[in-house]
Amino acid sequence: MTVRVRIAPSPTGNLHIGTARTAVFNWLYARHHQGTFVLRIEDTDEERSQPEYTQNILDGLSWLGMNWDEGPFFQSQRLELYRDATQKLLDQGLAYRCYCTTAELDEMRTAQKERGEAPRYDNRHRHLTAEQEAAFQSEGRQAVIRFKIEDDQAINWKDLVRGPMHWQGRDLGGDMVVARATASGEIGQPLYNLAVVVDDMDLRITHVIRGEDHIANTAKQILLYQALGGTVPEFSHTPLILNSEGKKLSKRDGVTSITDFQEMGFIAPALANYMTLLGWSPPDPTQEIFSLSDAAAQFDFERVNKAGAKFDWDKLDWINSQYLHDEEKWPSAQLTDALIPYWQATNDDFDPVADRSWLEQIAGLIQPSLVRLKDAAEMTQFLFTRELVWTDDAQKQLSQDGVEVALQGIIDQLAPSSDSELTADTAKSFINSTVKENKLKKGLVMRSLRAALTGDMHGPDLMESWLLLHQRGEDLKRLQQALKIARL
Ligand code: GLU
Repeated sequence: MTVRVRIAPSPTGNLHIGTARTAVFNWLYARHHQGTFVLRIEDTDEERSQPEYTQNILDGLSWLGMNWDEGPFFQSQRLELYRDATQKLLDQGLAYRCYCTTAELDEMRTAQKERGEAPRYDNRHRHLTAEQEAAFQSEGRQAVIRFKIEDDQAINWKDLVRGPMHWQGRDLGGDMVVARATASGEIGQPLYNLAVVVDDMDLRITHVIRGEDHIANTAKQILLYQALGGTVPEFSHTPLILNSEGKKLSKRDGVTSITDFQEMGFIAPALANYMTLLGWSPPDPTQEIFSLSDAAAQFDFERVNKAGAKFDWDKLDWINSQYLHDEEKWPSAQLTDALIPYWQATNDDFDPVADRSWLEQIAGLIQPSLVRLKDAAEMTQFLFTRELVWTDDAQKQLSQDGVEVALQGIIDQLAPSSDSELTADTAKSFINSTVKENKLKKGLVMRSLRAALTGDMHGPDLMESWLLLHQRGEDLKRLQQALKIARL
């Protein structure tokens, strides 16, 4: 048997982290078994589905490396299939038209609540006579199609993550709606459970891998497979992604979509690596950094947890930095390409082409301490700005005894050759002779230089920063400005 799995996002929002993680598990399972990974866009909800969300989902999956083998299939282009399946259920007496109004359904639920019962449809239109139907139609009522669910029906399956699962028909809320009502009396838009089963049968899906929030749907879907004469696939319900409080990760946690993670500066292989660990652990639990194909080689559902997976920002940051710090995986040219949009978002005073070599050197400078790409903007602001602002700490440093002499010493040596290239050796010799001639402590000179050139007391390597500022023609000017501060 060839494994065939699918990811079936609804384009009602940007690609969600939960959907992306489900895609990762499907992809890993497909690749492990040399199977087929199918992409289906579930866009039957006409009001909430938007083409830009479809595009975002396709882009996000591609960015993460979740290449699909078939699709995208669009449910909106397959309505005929769902209509035929619904007609088949009607013809077999497994489904019927229900003419209840919203007010009647509300009233039913209120009465159930008052009796302390769980709300459900009480199957009241299951046995309407032709006359009753005609009467409802002449009142102008519209009918949904309901699929019969017997209360004493047992539903069992062996979940690949959760083991044996048992449901009773009576816990599924009564006969379920499979198609919406239409004014014309025709079979209307299909509902999720019907469309999914029809598609999964049609696309010969062998394993349905999705979040555990779909467990009750699985029970309903198994009944539909049986009614439609389909082979019931294997099911695997993956744990939810939880926030630090153990609640389902949601909009309130600030980030939910893959676009959000992209904007924050997480890189695709690191995010995919982290998502793999959200619920799955490799046979060697000390192995935390791996490519998707490494993970695929080892992936199985035995190592997927039942318990919810806590989203751990520190771990994601750590994994991201492991990728970014690896010069082989991220040579400075590639890092520069990735950083340019972040620099452009905060600075408009550079030319990505003409300043390319300068930018690559900056990328190399911050690479060892970079955690998220977005951090680069702040870390390197002092290199880009033409209007440096000195922090309080830097100003305090500049007001110390000896700083004036130190800065003057450097300026005197730098000024005559300020237009020519500055090498690390020359810069060091300026520092050493300033120390020597003025009998200063080297630490004081270095700290003052950092304060003067970068406006702060912390930052990337000072000597390299100086050389980069020199290339920009900023070093002498800043030393002179800092000297004024030192003289205040
Ligand atoms: N469209 C559903 C969702 O996005 C798909 C669930 C499924 O995999 O069946 O949750």
